[in-house]
Amino acid sequence: MERRDQEHIVMLPFLAQGHLIPFLQLARNLQQRKSFITITVASTALNIQYLRTTIASNSSSQSDSNIRLAELSFCSTDHGLPPNGENTENLPLSKIGNLGAASTSLEAPAHLLISDIIEKEGRPPLCIISDMYFGWAANLANSFGTAHVTFTTGGAYGTAALVSTWLNLPHRSTASDEFPVPGFPESYRFHISQLNPYLRAADGTDFGSRIFQPQLSLSTKSFGWLCSTVEEIEPVGLKILRNYLGRPVWSIGPLLPLEALNKSSTLRLSVSRQRAGKEFGIPPEACLEWLDSQGSDSVVYVSFGSQNSISSNQLMELALGLEESGRPFIWVIRPPVGYDMKGEFRAEWLPEGFEDRMSRGKQGLVVHNWAPQLEILSHKSTGVFVSHCGWNSVMESLSQGVPMIGWPLASEQAFNSKMLAEEMGVSVELTRGAQSVVVGKEVKRLIDLVMEKSGKGGELRKKVGDIGEQIRAAVRDEAEDKGSFVSAMDDFLGTILATRRKNEHK
Ligand code: UDP
Repeated sequence: MERRDQEHIVMLPFLAQGHLIPFLQLARNLQQRKSFITITVASTALNIQYLRTTIASNSSSQSDSNIRLAELSFCSTDHGLPPNGENTENLPLSKIGNLGAASTSLEAPAHLLISDIIEKEGRPPLCIISDMYFGWAANLANSFGTAHVTFTTGGAYGTAALVSTWLNLPHRSTASDEFPVPGFPESYRFHISQLNPYLRAADGTDFGSRIFQPQLSLSTKSFGWLCSTVEEIEPVGLKILRNYLGRPVWSIGPLLPLEALNKSSTLRLSVSRQRAGKEFGIPPEACLEWLDSQGSDSVVYVSFGSQNSISSNQLMELALGLEESGRPFIWVIRPPVGYDMKGEFRAEWLPEGFEDRMSRGKQGLVVHNWAPQLEILSHKSTGVFVSHCGWNSVMESLSQGVPMIGWPLASEQAFNSKMLAEEMGVSVELTRGAQSVVVGKEVKRLIDLVMEKSGKGGELRKKVGDIGEQIRAAVRDEAEDKGSFVSAMDDFLGTILATRRKNEHK
């Protein structure tokens, strides 16, 4: 192939695991679709190190050979952040806004990166795909005369609700706890408790508003949006997002490895290793062996994603509820809110003798910090996921047909939880936030409810099974029968390539 036919896309993910994972999968998918595309994923040193580890563990795959990693100079302590404060996982929720503010400083090194690409290749990259929190990338793309594409690592409904609430602050125009959100049908009501702590405090002049509003606003004006969802599973959310943005939105999900979409097999290899360069709190093999010894659909899996935790009272009650349920469980656990997330876990945060009792009686696996989530969800023994409803976790659970018990904590998670319960009917919500009072008995009641073979549990399982089928169908790629993921990827690439050609001939 002539050098001129080579295309280059630059990606700028937000500095968090829940963003790096889908960005890398998107890079792999774009590269698989069009082998003449080189992708450069640019981020700070620590995040590049994570990505490098994931790519190294996937060395057998051709699709990573055209993915390059570029380090952008960033010193977290210059921005009042701790020395490793380059990824949200090393920061308390109260500092995430500071990381958001600091990340605008990446524009200067990203400018150098693009200049360097132009010098070597004689023209700007095909496009810059940036996270929706990196609206500054629009200025960068404009200055080099290339297209700016926004990628939301959230779903359509949750993204529309988050962007609209940030840009319109609808909770400020009412004295009521319930309010409509611009862009959503008038009959839809949102509750103040569904707003994350930054949003709830936002009035248009505060720190959170000054950081997030301009970034999201710039992103709403980009060439088009990519959304990590599947066309068939979010018809309402996609309609709302498209109307709200008034520009193309390509639903390019599921952003999952193909192995995870093959229904007949449990993931035996460590796919999670190829998704996040993280150390596991348990050897994945031991985790799978333990799951092998459990009954079908019997295990409760509990995890709050890559960076969140709950309060110490909630931790205690969750432990009591799990134990009382008498069901096998895997619980990914971190120190409670207010303590160093990376610090030692203290036995006093759990009921006396809990970890010992669970491991001796073989009822539960308590995994510290990080587990092979996708393998766990794909295992036939896993019956329910108690989740913070981060969108990657949601898509992983839906794709494996596992119903959820929602416990949203931050970002747009409460909007996801609302959509999962009200639109999809695949989840029930336990509580919201890290401040609420949670009672162990309620944890047990909801686990029992979702685990029921008939009644509500049966309904949730049937619906999530159907959605899992739709997600798998989206990746069909036969000459006459292309799934929505394949069509969306081809349409996006076709559109962006045609735009480049048109501009070059002007
Ligand atoms: N994850 C994992 N093991 C863990 C915790 C999280 O593999 O112990 C992965 C999970 O599979 C998902 C991502 O980390 O892909 C978390 O993203 P999500 O959007 O669910 O939540 P966030 O971390 O952004 O809040």
